Amino acid sequence: MTYSPRPQRDLRFIVIGAGMAGILAAIRLKEAGYRQIVVYEKADRIGGTWRENTYPGLNCDVPAHAYTYSFAPHAEWSHYLAAGPEIQAYFEGVTKKHGIEPLIRFNQEVTACVFENDRWKVETSGGIKDEADVVIAASGVLHHPNIAQIPGMDTFRGPSFHSARWDHSVPLDGRRIAIIGSGSTGAQLVSGLVDRCERVVHVQRSPQWIMPVENPAFTEEQKAAFRRDPALIDAVRYNEEYVTNVRLFTEAIADMDSPQIKQIEAAVLDNLERSVKDPVLREKLRPDYRAACKRLIFSPDYYDAIQRPNAVAAVGKIERIEPTGVRMKDGTLHEVDIIVLATGFQADRFIRPTRVIGKNGVDLDHAWALRPSAYLAVTIPDFPNFFMLNGPTGPVGNFSLIDIAELQWGYIAQLIAEIDAGRCRIISPTHAAMADYETRRIAAAKHTIFGSGCSSWYLDAEGVPASWPWSYDAFIAAMAHPKLEAFDRV
Ligand code: NAP
Repeated sequence: MTYSPRPQRDLRFIVIGAGMAGILAAIRLKEAGYRQIVVYEKADRIGGTWRENTYPGLNCDVPAHAYTYSFAPHAEWSHYLAAGPEIQAYFEGVTKKHGIEPLIRFNQEVTACVFENDRWKVETSGGIKDEADVVIAASGVLHHPNIAQIPGMDTFRGPSFHSARWDHSVPLDGRRIAIIGSGSTGAQLVSGLVDRCERVVHVQRSPQWIMPVENPAFTEEQKAAFRRDPALIDAVRYNEEYVTNVRLFTEAIADMDSPQIKQIEAAVLDNLERSVKDPVLREKLRPDYRAACKRLIFSPDYYDAIQRPNAVAAVGKIERIEPTGVRMKDGTLHEVDIIVLATGFQADRFIRPTRVIGKNGVDLDHAWALRPSAYLAVTIPDFPNFFMLNGPTGPVGNFSLIDIAELQWGYIAQLIAEIDAGRCRIISPTHAAMADYETRRIAAAKHTIFGSGCSSWYLDAEGVPASWPWSYDAFIAAMAHPKLEAFDRV
């Protein structure tokens, strides 16, 4: 990375969001020696998705040692896959250790960013008016709950809430609960609740393919060894089998006809056939679309949980919600005390509803009228010095988003270096570069497994996967060095 460690100019930076990516940006900017960095965070704590999701059973299906900043290895992970609260605590620890807290203004949702006279004018919900040379939009992807509009929802007698707005005042033990939705969240909820609730009804419009995964605990001896020798952590993080599998997975996703996707299909099919004993349940749980078309679920225990005597797989469409439970289209009424909507997120929002106005009054909502897009998932024409982490069309799938954000930061840092060195004041991709990227990306995206014929949050309004359609190695290569000829530099 060709990033000047000593800034030449006193640039001012505004980072939007103190989740995983915003904290990363703040740490990197501080390390680089910038003194004017402010992070605006809408909530009263850092953590992003790990602050907002607190549902029982929450964990991260990316191995914990791979879901860590490269510069902040963590010897203390309790399991191969970490639980949500542990991850939240990790981010809080890193934020503290790197002295980022004083840079964060909490309870300040950014409501507007307007580009005027080569600077960004930023306003927050708390009435702050600020200015910066550079904005880093690290506002996350999956943060606007999709509250499914199911007829009769308001007639339900018991508590109901979205999985990302968990109501911890509602007792769960010994109660009957319906979980609507069969994505990663719904599957983790079933595993997390089956030992506590009297009855768990998993309402699933489309059953999912499940990839088995082990989740062993790290022993105290292993953790002590990690503390003594961080190289041992790297050995887990960059474990050859894991890295090979990530590569295989990205190659599989990129090409729906690849031999790699056939391997994944065989593995999830084998898992279904071997794990689900009752042939009737097995048929109910058999998806009618290809593996990894929806985000693949990695679970050590879902099939075990759904086969417990107190678990019910309610596969099919919902007719309506009634005062006492969920009525399915086939007439069955599942009587429950609590309903949880594990119905996902509005994945096309990104920084919106923040009003973002770029050069010459261009409104981001207008620029994104067809679909959210960004050149190489990071920058947008007409929005100079506005850089996105985990923005539209970045890699999606079962990867470490931390890794992706770090690679994106390496790219952004080199663009900032252009401004810092005085080679330009403002930088944004050309319309031609953006159009070329989108044409190539959309053509390739249609051939990814996400485009093989199923519904999922990956698809944009026109049914095109909003994804990085090439391999992981291609992403690394794209992020290594910006092609400056693709940018307008003024
Ligand atoms: P999701 O994958 O979008 O799943 C939403 C579920 O709700 C689907 O099963 C969908 O059914 C169902 N649904 C939506 N509207 C419905 C309606 N009106 N009636 C009935 N069912 C409805 O959401 P998610 O499970 O919250 O996961 C979102 C993403 O968060 C994941 O893909 C992943 O990227 C991330 N995540 C990651 C982890 C992790 O461990 N790393 C854990 C949780 C979440 P259809 O499939 O039929 O549309």
